[in-house]
Amino acid sequence: MSDTPTTPDADKFDKFDVEAVNRRDRQQPLYAARKKIHPKRANGQFRSLKWLIMIVTLGIYYATPWIRWDRGEFAPDQAVLIDLYHRRFYFFFIEIWPQEFYYVAGLLIMAGIGLFLITSSVGRAWCGYTCPQTVWVDLFLVVERAIEGDRNKRIRLDKEPMSVSKAFKRVSKHTMWLLISISTGGAWIFYFADAPELAIDLFTGSAAGIAYSTVGVLAFTTYTLGGLMREQVCTYMCPWPRIQGAMLDEHSLTVTYNDWRGEPRGKHVKKNDPNAGLVGDCVDCNACVAVCPMGIDIRDGQQLECITCALCIDACDGVMTKLGREKGLISYATLKDYNANTAKATDKDGGLDPSRIRDAAGNLIDSLVHTTWRSIIRFRTLLYFGVWSAIGVAMIVALLSRERLELNILRDRNPTFVTLSDGSIRNGYTVKILNMMPEPRLIQLTLDGLSGAKMIVPDMAENPEGSALMIPAEPDQLATYKIYLSMDRKNLKDGKTKFQFLIQDINGSESDSYDAVFEAGELK
Ligand code: SF4
Ligand code: SF4
Repeated sequence: MSDTPTTPDADKFDKFDVEAVNRRDRQQPLYAARKKIHPKRANGQFRSLKWLIMIVTLGIYYATPWIRWDRGEFAPDQAVLIDLYHRRFYFFFIEIWPQEFYYVAGLLIMAGIGLFLITSSVGRAWCGYTCPQTVWVDLFLVVERAIEGDRNKRIRLDKEPMSVSKAFKRVSKHTMWLLISISTGGAWIFYFADAPELAIDLFTGSAAGIAYSTVGVLAFTTYTLGGLMREQVCTYMCPWPRIQGAMLDEHSLTVTYNDWRGEPRGKHVKKNDPNAGLVGDCVDCNACVAVCPMGIDIRDGQQLECITCALCIDACDGVMTKLGREKGLISYATLKDYNANTAKATDKDGGLDPSRIRDAAGNLIDSLVHTTWRSIIRFRTLLYFGVWSAIGVAMIVALLSRERLELNILRDRNPTFVTLSDGSIRNGYTVKILNMMPEPRLIQLTLDGLSGAKMIVPDMAENPEGSALMIPAEPDQLATYKIYLSMDRKNLKDGKTKFQFLIQDINGSESDSYDAVFEAGELK
């Protein structure tokens, strides 16, 4: 018998026409290095709006802890203060106690609904204009441009070998970024303590270690996220781009490349040129790509990376103006309007024909649909706005009408009552009077429904005894007193007698009450 292997019969097995998708020689590395983006400075109405928003938001962030607000001698004079030690939140004339945290929850709900409202109306305007990541990246880019120049100069500088001049620019830029980052972290901790005092402590080295470590952590994250990682934070780390897709609909305004007008791309031809109808308005100059801080091309359509900053609109409007064409080749538009215009520009073969949307004089035809701000007024956005406003109004009403005086009573359980030597019955209570005003108050404590009861307060110096007590309540404090009530047994019935503790600010109108019981056991 021969040992030589023989070729198997081909018809005894199946051969599949397939290639391994992840063949070893085709495997991609899991890590793709970032390609650096060098956004060019844009000019136009949206860039101006972004400058304005950047100045306002950064101004609010850095300046707010330094605003003073006179609350009298018993409360801090910092307008906005999160006082963790005393568990208070001060916001100008509003003071929130821990048990009133539902106001903060209400604000968070309003912020959430506000984001729904903004996104369903104008897409990712939050991302493009007011998100801290966007604002700080913008600020860092201002520094970068001031030191290293605009896009082309920065690209050239990156390619240059290291020199004294390049090193100087790099060190200057990173020093400025670090200073901004440190002041960002510094501003944050000023919200948690008296800002002027803490600033002195910080600079003299006498602040608490937690203050320095908080500044350090925030400086590091600001520098890393805003200076080094930039667009990667929005693309890979932030969940918002994923969520926003569910919030947009065909009526939402988004930054849109109007390919029904721009395609087919070509070099510019003048408006009255006989070739004008053969090509679209896009001259493929890539100005929109050069300004994009996310490194994308809006002409590829809506993309997850697009933060709707509208800088590509400014760039393209500038190009169109120079060419004597109508602005708006890239514009804020709804999907519905875009589809309507695309249908007008589409020929019977399904291709885009620019001549279909221009008249004989080369102007855009009147029947094109122009998206206006009115498109944001619709049932869905009105509903969001209604809910948002209702919560806001409810919170304002609750804030304006809330009581700043509260009474809480705890009855002694062991023993539930004591029989005194004269035969009267005594119950003990812990009375808690919460004075939420930043000023001392004199509170009258009385009983309702327990006639003949005597109140004794052992802790009070004068130890008054009677059916009405004057109790001092310190500003912004919880006053706790032990109180004994004694009743002549002939005025009592067996078991429990229901009554009320009442408090009244004798110099104001606020009052509160608490339902309580007097336990007498079985009277013989
Ligand atoms: S595509 Fe336009 S709107 Fe979107 S991120 Fe880039 S520049 Fe901003
Ligand atoms: S800026 Fe306008 S014209 Fe230039 S490539 Fe972009 S869309 Fe086309």
